[in-house]
Amino acid sequence: MTIKTTITIAHGDGIGPEIMAATLKILAAAHAPLSYDTIEIGEKVYLAGNTSGIPAEAWKSLQRTKILLKAPITTPQGGGYKSLNVTLRKTLGLFANVRPSIAYAPFVPTKHPNMDLVIVRENEEGTYAGIEHRQTDEMYQCLKLVSRPGCERIIHYAFEYARKFNRKKVTCLTKDNIMKMTDGIFHEVFREIAAQYPDIQNEHFIIDIGTALVAASPERFDVIVTSNLYGDILSDVAAQVAGSVGLAGSANIGNHVAMFEAIHGSAPDIAGKDIANPSGLLNAAIQMLIHINQPETAILIENAWLKTLEDGVHTGDIYSPEYSKQKVGTQAFAAAVIARLGQQPTHFKAANYQKDVRTRIECMGETRKVLAHKQLVGVDVFIDNRALNENALGEKISALGSTQLPLGNITSRGLKIWPNCMIDAPYTGHCSCRFLVSKDNLATGISHQAIIDLLQRFNDAGMDVIKTENLYTFDGKPGFSLAQGE
Ligand code: NAD
Repeated sequence: MTIKTTITIAHGDGIGPEIMAATLKILAAAHAPLSYDTIEIGEKVYLAGNTSGIPAEAWKSLQRTKILLKAPITTPQGGGYKSLNVTLRKTLGLFANVRPSIAYAPFVPTKHPNMDLVIVRENEEGTYAGIEHRQTDEMYQCLKLVSRPGCERIIHYAFEYARKFNRKKVTCLTKDNIMKMTDGIFHEVFREIAAQYPDIQNEHFIIDIGTALVAASPERFDVIVTSNLYGDILSDVAAQVAGSVGLAGSANIGNHVAMFEAIHGSAPDIAGKDIANPSGLLNAAIQMLIHINQPETAILIENAWLKTLEDGVHTGDIYSPEYSKQKVGTQAFAAAVIARLGQQPTHFKAANYQKDVRTRIECMGETRKVLAHKQLVGVDVFIDNRALNENALGEKISALGSTQLPLGNITSRGLKIWPNCMIDAPYTGHCSCRFLVSKDNLATGISHQAIIDLLQRFNDAGMDVIKTENLYTFDGKPGFSLAQGE
């Protein structure tokens, strides 16, 4: 008797229930050894007052099965609802978002018929940590947090994925020419880890030219690894270039739990009309079958799906008079795939996944055994300054410093505005006052008490301190950026 794997499924909102029904019909016809634990997440749960969109029973199911096949959900507008996807990814530790972008030309028109790339996107860190503050009447802040273990995990994952899936090259995309610390560490870890995979080529581009190259010559890429925000944007660019936004599935992988979904949303504009393309969710289900080591069923379904595309049986979103023979709805498309189970594609390369090879890839960040020597050497004091121009501000704030901890400069939005301001009318509403020990005192540094005393003087002077950021050196190297113009 075949042992069935229990997975959690969520039917979602909008077109979700239709494409999930189609996908489940195909899985059943392929005799996928699966049983289902159904959870309710999304719009109904949000509107019932749960701002996370996920009830307690759903978490319990995920803890039990560790696999979620999820149809898209609708996030209600306004009302402080948190993104369910971000909550799921972060709570379940789904650190890798894996999005293949493959051209299915000529059946799905694209300018890049040989495109076949996979984007491995970091899923938990960067600006998507979602830590934001309004600091003054005019200034809003979003924190970008990047950890070394987070970089190690995702970059190791990308190389392991490349090795297991017979891919030849991993490309890293960052903006480390500007963000020398956060993107700098991503690039640095990439160099370190790439050296451990001599069998796989590696390269790095700045994200802007990298994105342009994905749009103009995607066939030159194989596996791309990048951080959260860049990967989010880039994977939509890649899906669009492949001509197949409605076809792509994605996997969100953690060391213990994994979630599989289509890359598109709940498409409320076409919900209930039986016209949505179920292929995105079906491809996510194929990724899931590989992940849970059921490659035979993955192969059976993928080949039938490829044959359906080749036979010109297409949903409206990919219909073209030249290559389509029959325009079908969601459930008729599923029936066409089912009718081709057991058949091989003739134009496309047939799917072929090995047993036990393509299972989940566990990746840990490394625990550093020798920590750098961390020395407190100063502080940036951020203030809400409504009253003073840069010269008056410099004079007032200088007086708050001490011989041990003098004022070095004042910046606004990263630009130096005191001393020696180089622009006529600088923006002074949001300022950072940098107090840094003199070169002679760098080795000994300062105590936290020196910062507390400084803040007391800011308070006594009636200054509105909105935040402080301690300045440290690590093994003597500054752990902070310099101002533009410094
Ligand atoms: P969308 O992806 O739902 O729709 C964009 C366009 O693509 C629409 O014209 C739609 O009709 C079309 N489309 C999408 N999927 C299709 C399919 N399978 N077949 C045919 N056409 C398809 O994006 P949106 O309109 O920006 O978002 C709608 C809702 O989906 C929002 O509430 C958003 O928050 C949510 N969303 C959910 C997820 C998710 O659950 N993973 C992802 C993205 C958006």
